[in-house]
Amino acid sequence: LYNMVQDLKGNIRVYCRIRPTINSEVKNVIDFIGKDGSLVVVDPKPLKDGKKVFQFNQVFGPTATQDEVFRDMQPLVRSVMDGYNVCIFAYGQTGSGKTHTMYGPPGGSAKELGISYLSLKDLFELSDQRKDITKYEIQVQMVEIYNEQVRDLLAEDSSTKKYPFAFKMLFDSLKYVCDNNLALPDATLRPVKSADDVINLMKLGEVNRAVSSTAMNSTSSRSHSVLSVHVHGEDASGSVIHSCLHLVDLAGSERVDKSEVTGDGLREAQHINKSLSCLVDVMTALAQKNSHIPYRNSKLTLLLQSSLGGNAKTLMFAHVGPEGDSFGETMSTLKFAQRVSTV
Ligand code: ADP
Ligand code: MG
Repeated sequence: LYNMVQDLKGNIRVYCRIRPTINSEVKNVIDFIGKDGSLVVVDPKPLKDGKKVFQFNQVFGPTATQDEVFRDMQPLVRSVMDGYNVCIFAYGQTGSGKTHTMYGPPGGSAKELGISYLSLKDLFELSDQRKDITKYEIQVQMVEIYNEQVRDLLAEDSSTKKYPFAFKMLFDSLKYVCDNNLALPDATLRPVKSADDVINLMKLGEVNRAVSSTAMNSTSSRSHSVLSVHVHGEDASGSVIHSCLHLVDLAGSERVDKSEVTGDGLREAQHINKSLSCLVDVMTALAQKNSHIPYRNSKLTLLLQSSLGGNAKTLMFAHVGPEGDSFGETMSTLKFAQRVSTV
């Protein structure tokens, strides 16, 4: 039934999440949050009363918990176990709450673990419920894309057997289609048996990411991280499903003032702009049912190819803060999200 409802609504859904304020001194721009997914923001400039109305599939206010957010998207996540490919993105400027939604706060307080963890926990529960009918195997990969280079965050250093410092560089290993249905055949694939296994891998991924950030004089907000969950299921009659859930924490979407950055910063900004706009181009081309879908234009879209379009389902979280001093970026995030939701 869920898939029928989804089909009627189209395969792209957009949720908006507003994080709690971190500076109550400045004006709050959130005017109204509707239960039907509507959102009204107000221009903070004193002489203006410009109210803007947006409509999404769902809006979560500052008090929404991780569990509430997850419950809303649970059917979508569960459809992976029925063979659907699913892609979930967190979009928004740096500091807007993307990592909070996907992974939870740094260090991972058990109470606030993000939707990646909650999704995997749920998939294991479902796998257990169905164990007499279908045998499932779940494996994960975790990579980051920085300046159009793909790095394996779960690679193990072959000499020391320690995780940090060694990531395979996967420049050209992206392939269109692979025998085993993997977008990234060269990235380390780790079997997981429980949500705790996943937490441990996420921590390792976090460590590797932090190491690469310092090495490249950058922060994680300048790269995309992709956690790919590969599900393989087989029932007694021998029928097999292969599907994938991608959980993507995108690089910060803020526009970088070209006059203020040079060198590394400028290069990063250009790569981020390019890959985010490629993502929109792909979604637009899919919505218009174009014969050519420009997956090849960025590593991100190439990697996610099998999970964008066709029967795949996409959920984009647009993250914004309520503070008036970032109103420009907030508007650009909301407009972008509105465009995605109507493609
Ligand atoms: P981003 O990944 O977009 O740069 P973060 O997820 O790191 O942003 O969030 C910025 C800060 O705000 C962090 O300290 C995070 O813990 C906090 N935060 C974000 N969203 C929420 C939320 N919904 N509830 C509580 N704290 C949040
Ligand atoms: Mg982040």
